[in-house]
Amino acid sequence: MTTLISHILLDIEGTTCPVSFVSGTLFPYAARELGPFLERHQQEVKVQELVATIFQDWQQDPDPIAQQLFHNAAGQEIRGEEEESKDSRSDNVGKHKLIVPYLQWLISVDLKYTPLKELQGMVWNEGYGRGELKSTLFDEVADTLQRWHEQGLVLGVYSSGSIAAQKLLYGHSQAGDLRPLFQYWFDTHIGSKHEVDSYRHICEVMQVNPQQVLFISDCEAELEAEVQSNLQVILSDRDNDQPVSNNPNPQKPTTSIAGTPRQVSRLDQIELLTKDATHYQQGKHR
Ligand SMILES: [Mg+2]
Repeated sequence: MTTLISHILLDIEGTTCPVSFVSGTLFPYAARELGPFLERHQQEVKVQELVATIFQDWQQDPDPIAQQLFHNAAGQEIRGEEEESKDSRSDNVGKHKLIVPYLQWLISVDLKYTPLKELQGMVWNEGYGRGELKSTLFDEVADTLQRWHEQGLVLGVYSSGSIAAQKLLYGHSQAGDLRPLFQYWFDTHIGSKHEVDSYRHICEVMQVNPQQVLFISDCEAELEAEVQSNLQVILSDRDNDQPVSNNPNPQKPTTSIAGTPRQVSRLDQIELLTKDATHYQQGKHR
């Protein structure tokens, strides 16, 4: 028995957008601009909440590097408090400065940490708004998304970047504002991309049978969780893109998911059949 695909869920990094844009442009921009951003917005409630959460999580972070950074910061904080004791500022003063090296380290190791993702989204928002950032997608992506949209397929994003960051990326692409093509946006608030439950929740939100959903990602571990959730999957394996950092073995053949070759190097190699009994066909190489 086969079911037609009605929904396509897309990863971003390595699937629609080069890893190099994220690692080589977005992350360095965030690492550089976080400090000035926190300084400018330190009075905002949302920023203060994030700073407090991050500071607390940092204290409990068992990683030796995190602990060393915290130890260094604690020394700074004590010195800062001595200098500031003459005015009546609260204990929270300065935490927005202290957390910057910790956040920069988290960025450097590409840790998927939701409060950091939120903060980065805010920093990038300013960068896109000032015209300092413009996203680069793989060259066939905009046309392919448009075609699928015109075919009546429901498109959704599921990325570890925050929803705000996803909308910025698609809203400020070199092909223009692609946000209207997407109906659903999911980030790690719905759960980890490696957890089966995340995909169940996503299907509940989209009110669709998992078998009608095609998920496209460059990460095999994500696809395995999807297979367990009964979704259809295709691996995006971009020839010239950088290897995926969280792929435990990049040399492993990538054509054996669910025992079926389901791998493309470009999204326009995926031809979805809307009236046939087959899910989709591949191999329309250009
Ligand atoms: Mg990816």
